[in-house]
Amino acid sequence: MTPLEFDARHLWHPYTNVLNPGPMHLITGAEGVWLTREDGGKMIDGMSSWWCAIHGHRHPAITGAMARQLETLPHVMFGGLTHEPAVALGQQMINLLPDGMDRIFYCDSGSVSIEVALKMAVQYQMAMGRTGRFEFATIRGGYHGDTWKAMSVCDPVNGMHGLFSGALSIQHFLPRPDVRFGEDWPNDPVENGLGALAQLLEEKSDSIAALILEPIVQGAGGMYFYHPDYLRGARALCDQHGILLIFDEIATGFGRTGKLFAMDHAGVVPDILCLGKALTGGHISFAATVATEDVAQGIGNSAAGVMMHGPTYMANPLACAAGAASLGLLAQGDWQAQTAMIEAQMARELAPARDLPGVAEVRVLGAIGVIEMKEVVDPEIAHRLAPETGVWLRPFNHNIYTMPPFVISPDELSQVTSAMVALAGGAG
Ligand SMILES: *Cc1c(COP(=O)(O)O)cnc(C)c1O
Repeated sequence: MTPLEFDARHLWHPYTNVLNPGPMHLITGAEGVWLTREDGGKMIDGMSSWWCAIHGHRHPAITGAMARQLETLPHVMFGGLTHEPAVALGQQMINLLPDGMDRIFYCDSGSVSIEVALKMAVQYQMAMGRTGRFEFATIRGGYHGDTWKAMSVCDPVNGMHGLFSGALSIQHFLPRPDVRFGEDWPNDPVENGLGALAQLLEEKSDSIAALILEPIVQGAGGMYFYHPDYLRGARALCDQHGILLIFDEIATGFGRTGKLFAMDHAGVVPDILCLGKALTGGHISFAATVATEDVAQGIGNSAAGVMMHGPTYMANPLACAAGAASLGLLAQGDWQAQTAMIEAQMARELAPARDLPGVAEVRVLGAIGVIEMKEVVDPEIAHRLAPETGVWLRPFNHNIYTMPPFVISPDELSQVTSAMVALAGGAG
C-alpha cells in the first residue's frame, strides 16, 4: 500500500466521509507560506493551516525554541510542578493582554479551553452563592468547538452540529447581531439587537451563568463581521445581571482582524477569554483560558476552592516554548503593517468577484478575505484545483475565504486572491 492508499483505508479526516474522502494531497514539508507535496509541487497555504500559522510554517524562532526545549524537558506534569517555558509564555501573554486579564489556565486545544471557560463560569456563580446558574446565552451563527458543551453553544441550525441538537443541553440563542462592522450603529435597541439581549438576560438571570461570544468576527459559523457597539452593550448588560462575559478569541486573537485582539475594536474586556489556534504560530496544539483576578479569587474563596479541571498534558513545555517564541515575534510589531497591507490588497483584488453571477457578497477585515457565494461551495473542487493554481484553499459552506500567514508577500497574496476569484467564477 502507498501512504495515500493506507490513509484512505485506515485514517479518519475531519468532516470527511470515509467512503468518499475526495482528493487527498500528501504533504512532505512546509516553509513560510509554502506547502510541498509528495510530487514536489508547491502550494501557498491560504488557510494558514486552519488560521494558525500566522508567521508562516517552520519559523526559525519557533522551531529553534522547540528544539532547545526538546533537549531539556519535552514534558512534565503541571500538578505541583512548574517550568520556565510556562512562566515565559505567561509573561508574554500578560504583557500583550489588556489590563484585568490576569489568570491563565493552559489547555490542549481550543475546544478544551471553551469547556474550561464554561466550567469556570459555573463554578464562579456557585462561589457567589448564585446557585442554579448552569445555562449559557449566545448569539446565532457562532462556532465554539467540537466537544459536547462547546457544541451546545454553536449555532443550533446552521452550525456543523445541527445533527446533534437532540443530544445537547439547551442553551439560549439570540439573533445574530444585524449591524455589520463599519455600518452606522442605530441607537434603537430593537434595531441594534441589544433589546433582545436585555430581555433574555433580565428574564433568565437566575439560570444563566455566562454570555459567550466570538467578538466582532464569527469564524466557522459564517465569516460574519458585526459591530463593536454590540459588545459594549453586552458588557454593560452582563454587569447589570451578574452574568459573566466570555470572549472566544480562538480564531480572532493575535492580530487576525487587524487589531491584536478583536475585542480591541470595541475596547471591551471580558471576564473570561479563550485563546488557541495562532497561540503557537501553528506549530503545535495549544490553547489557554484567561480569567480576571476577580473570577479566579471568587473560585478560590468558594467551598470547592479548586478549579475542577486539569489536562494530562497541561502546560506542555514544548507548546509553551513555541507559544512564547510566537508571541515574541508578535511583540516585535510587524503584524500591524502586515495585516494592514493584506487588508488593503485583498479589498482591491477580491472586489471584481462582486460582479460574478454566483457571488452574494465580498468582505474583508484585517487578514480575513471572504467571497460569500449564493450556493454552498464543494470544498473538493478547491482541493482538486490546488495543484494547478498553487493555492491551498478549503471553502466552507457558502464561503470561499482566505486567512493567509501575515508574512505573505504581495505577489503570493495576488496568487491567492486570483485563485479565489477563479474559484468563485467556476463555482458560480
Ligand atoms: C477553531 C475554533 C474553536 C475550536 O478550537 P480547536 O482547537 O479546533 O478545538 C473554538 N472557537 C473558535 C472561534 C474557533 O475558531
